[in-house]
Amino acid sequence: MQTEDMCPGTTDFKVIKEKKLAFEGVQDEIEVIGFISCGGCPGKKAITRAAEMVKRGADTIAFASCITRGNPIGFACPHADKMKSAIIAKVGEEITILDYTH
Ligand code: SF4
Repeated sequence: MQTEDMCPGTTDFKVIKEKKLAFEGVQDEIEVIGFISCGGCPGKKAITRAAEMVKRGADTIAFASCITRGNPIGFACPHADKMKSAIIAKVGEEITILDYTH
């Protein structure tokens, strides 16, 4: 959420459409069913928001690269690991989690 003012996720959508980087080799059609933020530090809302996406059909959750890689200003999320483990605990291991997009 801290990155929303400087990035609307354009490259995320581009690499999904072109099946590049984190989406390289995906054979199936990729349908984006939602694009959400963490809800602000420390990211607690990401857990219920991810669960809602799964409820609506998501089989994969991709963490945008601003979270784990700090794009575009080199400032990664200090809560990323905790957020990821809490999401896995909530949605289950059968949902694929991608650690970055590009
Ligand atoms: S630093 Fe992490 S918890 Fe804070 S707004 Fe960014 S992604 Fe969310």
